[in-house]
Amino acid sequence: MATRVKSRGEAGSAKKDGPTPMMAQYLALKESVPDCLLFYRMGDFFELFFEDAKRAAATLDIALTARGEHDGEPIPMCGVPAHSHEAYLARLIKAGHRVAIADQTETPEEAKKRARKEGRAAKALVARAIVRIVTAGTLTEETLLDARASNWLVAVAEAGGDIGIAAADISTGRFELSSAPIAMLDAELARLGAAEIIAPEGFERAPDDAHICARSDFSSIEAERRLKTVFGVATLDGFGQFDRAELAAAGGLLAYLDSAGQGALPFLQPPRHHRAGDYMLIDAATRESLELTHSASGNRGGSLLSAIDRTVTGAGARLLAVDIAAPLTTTDAIEARLDLVALFESDAGRRDHLRAALKALPDIGRALGRLVAGRGSPRDLGLLRDGLYAARDLHEALARIDEPPALLAETLPRLTGHGALSDHLARALVPSPPIDTAQGGYIAEGYDAALDDLRETAGDGRRAIAALEARYREARGIASLKIKHNNVLGYHIEVPSKHADALMAADSGFTHRQTLAGVVRFNAPELHEEAQRVMQAGAHALAAEAAHLEELIARTLRDRDAIAATADALARLDVASALAEQAALRGWTRPRLTAEPCFAVEGGRHPVVEMAVERQGERFVANDCALAPEERLWLVTGPNMGGKSTFLRQNALIAVLAQAGSYVPAQSAKLGIVDKLFSRVGASDNLARGRSTFMVEMVETAAILAQATEHSFVILDEVGRGTSTYDGLAIAWAVVEAVHDVNKCRCLFATHYHELTRLAERLDALSLRHVRAREWQGDLVLLHELAEGPADRSYGLAVAKLAGLPKETVGRAKAVLAKLEAGREATGGIAAGLDDLPLFAADVPQMEEDAGDPLREALDAVHADDLTPRDALDLVYRLKRLADEAGG
Ligand code: ADP
Ligand code: MG
Repeated sequence: MATRVKSRGEAGSAKKDGPTPMMAQYLALKESVPDCLLFYRMGDFFELFFEDAKRAAATLDIALTARGEHDGEPIPMCGVPAHSHEAYLARLIKAGHRVAIADQTETPEEAKKRARKEGRAAKALVARAIVRIVTAGTLTEETLLDARASNWLVAVAEAGGDIGIAAADISTGRFELSSAPIAMLDAELARLGAAEIIAPEGFERAPDDAHICARSDFSSIEAERRLKTVFGVATLDGFGQFDRAELAAAGGLLAYLDSAGQGALPFLQPPRHHRAGDYMLIDAATRESLELTHSASGNRGGSLLSAIDRTVTGAGARLLAVDIAAPLTTTDAIEARLDLVALFESDAGRRDHLRAALKALPDIGRALGRLVAGRGSPRDLGLLRDGLYAARDLHEALARIDEPPALLAETLPRLTGHGALSDHLARALVPSPPIDTAQGGYIAEGYDAALDDLRETAGDGRRAIAALEARYREARGIASLKIKHNNVLGYHIEVPSKHADALMAADSGFTHRQTLAGVVRFNAPELHEEAQRVMQAGAHALAAEAAHLEELIARTLRDRDAIAATADALARLDVASALAEQAALRGWTRPRLTAEPCFAVEGGRHPVVEMAVERQGERFVANDCALAPEERLWLVTGPNMGGKSTFLRQNALIAVLAQAGSYVPAQSAKLGIVDKLFSRVGASDNLARGRSTFMVEMVETAAILAQATEHSFVILDEVGRGTSTYDGLAIAWAVVEAVHDVNKCRCLFATHYHELTRLAERLDALSLRHVRAREWQGDLVLLHELAEGPADRSYGLAVAKLAGLPKETVGRAKAVLAKLEAGREATGGIAAGLDDLPLFAADVPQMEEDAGDPLREALDAVHADDLTPRDALDLVYRLKRLADEAGG
């Protein structure tokens, strides 16, 4: 509820020791919102005091001043103009602050009147109340929001061992509920990329930056009751079967929105049920490493989304981001999206027509959000009118399509049905209604005869005043006489000082009002009369317009859900035609989806790297990928900078794009639906993340081994490189075996451990690939082309030379390498002995247990008849080393 603090009528009678009445009012308000900066309205400014002032002044880089005293100390203060406070709000919110707005809830005149009635001094304190709490997740203002990104407020709660997640973007009313096992909380939060997260007190898994709310807000029973009331239904079944965790989260969300809006609930569409199984599972680390919607730097630029986003509306951009963040897993739903893309891909004329129409569309979803939140303007109604008409026109054009694909058939009806409303708005509003209502003039002529009369009266008055001016000039012979208007004097006559004396005379018919440097101002009875007429009519007209506005908004909001559905339908058309445009311009292909876990891409490309390569005037080399149950793990070796990482990621991105319902950057693609996608990058590729990187790498890798199924797709990029060579190789080796034998998922594994290629001999479904390179006249040429088999050598020195390492250093390194390689020949290299390691699945060595006698085991594994003399020599070396290790 609004915290309302009334003056106690003590203004002007401040005791020396206690706070002034105004300060007392301020402190009481501040106490109710301790975690917010308090914007305290004083006339044309919002003022901040005490610590708030210091923090705001620092963030906003504005002057910190002082006012009065409190407890014998000057009170720090800073302020921002009320008319431009949004810009300051934006900066404070961005810096992570929460702001409570305390506005005046009566005019100074009303305050005086009230004080008189209550029999107190006339100089009274104006009543103020907190009208709104502004946080990153509760914004609706156009200027505070990114038009092309959703703004999620997310509430998390726990019940029955599951996590419930309620997410709302109140700027458009999008509202969804989902539940997940506790382990998946981070993945879900990463999908949403919330602007603000709230969690109940005592919730252990709450993210560090979550805002903690009272536990009692997160009541599933109360939430169910509230949701039914808000959406006017007897049961929630029509929206989905929500579990207790989901309802608890919804309860927390609603309570929070109530308090932020001080009782006025913003726009919420009926909740959608986001069922985890319907979407590809992508955990937080995978999202980060694939840079789906944000690049590593945290910006949109450089991400997959920014590389492919050709949407022409804000709503389309927001929906595309949602789609990319949550690829689907049901073939029907994916095909439905692809059919719609195909419709526009195959017909450039139709696509251009649609996109041109969409481009001109206003953002009706956000306009509606502002109207519901009570921050709408005549302009927003005008936007809805224009948008709804445009949607109807689009409907007309699209309805002519024969045999429309299912998604179009489903979308089309949502584009129409607003005729009565838009006609009403068209009659009621001027063509471009203003945001500011103070001057009126937004209700169209002819809508209300009484309003027209008032305007005519005011107009007549103004014309009469203009006529008076001409008459006075002539009668007095003062060509420079003017009739002016300001807020203090209202209408008045102004003459230069030298002409003033003549008008000062008692019988002149003019009354002196004001003398300024150079001019003198007067009033006159006729002018006063006309001015009264103008003012009264004007005030009545303004009031009439305001009443119409209120009515029009109420009328519009009756259709809020249908309008939101139209906004969503337009966004879907924008996304489909934008993906079609991308496909047509970049030569993308429609993926074919199958149930069996294959992954057959011909001529695949990386949409982001391809653009970067092209910008440098080079050509991106397309590569095939062919995984199937019998050959599901590719081990990719080859020189640094050879294109391994790019190849891995492009295939993961192709899976994301395909299941999001997009064409893909390839000549052809046949993909088995991916249930979970994992991407891990070896630690040293990842230093920017600034954590204990090897530990993170291992934790994340463990998650894959625990979760990946036969239908999952995994890319592992140099896993194990974050530790010493032996450890790293050992871990990489074991991970490859586990992925191959236990998870049986499709996997691309890039490694610089050449030794791993030996696994090919033992793991049936593992196949070797390498990125090709060639040395030409002593220089390394990277071909970025994938070929069968292992890399023949590492080219490390050639890469070093390419990178500009001094000639002498490279020369010295060559000498060292020669020595090392000679040593390797003699010992069999660091992976000597691994060939005989028992098969992973067959005999898992138990770390805790005594591994037995390694010498005996090694000997048992030997088939003497199969040994060549060379093998025998190797064996002797190995046995000797085992003996040394066992002894030492
Ligand atoms: P690696 O992981 O083998 O070290 P990357 O995949 O990081 O190599 O690629 C290094 C660079 O090579 C990329 O930044 C890009 O400029 C270029 N590159 C990679 N793949 C290709 C390709 N298929 N065609 C053209 N250039 C490529
Ligand atoms: Mg790499």
